[in-house]
Amino acid sequence: MRFCTDPNALPIALCGSLSLHPVSTGARMHNAAYDALGLPFAYVPFAMTPERLPDALVCMRALGIRGFGISMPFKVQILPLLDELDPTAARIGAVNTVVNEQGRLIGHNCDWIGAVRALEEVLGTGGIRGRKVVLVGAGGAARAVAFGLVQSGAELTIVNRTESKARKLAQDTGAHAFGDLAAIDEVRQADVLVQATPVGMKAHAAETIVPKHLLREGLCVMDIVYDPPDTPLLQVAREQGARTINGLRMLLHQAARQFELYTGKPAPLEVMHAALAENGS
Ligand code: NAP
Repeated sequence: MRFCTDPNALPIALCGSLSLHPVSTGARMHNAAYDALGLPFAYVPFAMTPERLPDALVCMRALGIRGFGISMPFKVQILPLLDELDPTAARIGAVNTVVNEQGRLIGHNCDWIGAVRALEEVLGTGGIRGRKVVLVGAGGAARAVAFGLVQSGAELTIVNRTESKARKLAQDTGAHAFGDLAAIDEVRQADVLVQATPVGMKAHAAETIVPKHLLREGLCVMDIVYDPPDTPLLQVAREQGARTINGLRMLLHQAARQFELYTGKPAPLEVMHAALAENGS
């Protein structure tokens, strides 16, 4: 627990997360960044239920809590409880960050920024524009990634097990094309592949969506699964000569954006990366 013991110090600005099952990842990254910059901030992960979410936001206003990270299943439930939405969060229809601006609760979506910045680390700033990108998945995370990719100028094809969901996401985002899993062959013409389903997590480790023969040198492959960070897809992609990006980079960059929103300062990325790497995650 972090206490403000210096009577001359500014009051501590409290930030945190609201999730069904709190994990320490966000607290490690944010608290390490506050310490590195000597900021009077503290970050606490809170357990939340759908029933208690409205009360949590009343407390946020009453106590002047500066920011909350929001996990599933609250990312959509929270929308009508907020005072304002950032325009991209409004278009995505989901919020993963709430910032308290003098009592007004503003919803943001940092997931799309995390995905775009993680890709730009490899492709260069602005490097997504004009690239052919295949996105696998049309769930909550894929939705944020798809908006980020189209906004960044990608020529996007969305591939999903349930084709109707791919079609809906393509219509909502203005993606170039969509299809069911048979359309994964589009990877042949692509510059970038983004895997945004849970396949690759421990429970799904034996499944594969992208056949080995589609992975090749010249392709950039990002898997947004971060537990484990080195998924079977990334291992095979590397063996085939592709450049790979793991899900921890997206997680890191979305946390960095949250830090910027909470503190108004640039995030110390290396400090946050080191904190994320603690405990082997
Ligand atoms: P979700 O909303 O449940 O989405 C599930 C999507 O995956 C749907 O498109 C679903 O297809 C597809 N899918 C599920 N199982 C499949 C299978 N066996 N074969 C083919 N497609 C399958 O989940 P989510 O919230 O988007 O999360 C997806 C992953 O992203 C999770 O691993 C999560 O941890 C990760 N994530 C990472 C970050 C990060 O910062 N790195 C951020 C958020 C989420 P149907 O439509 O056919 O059901």
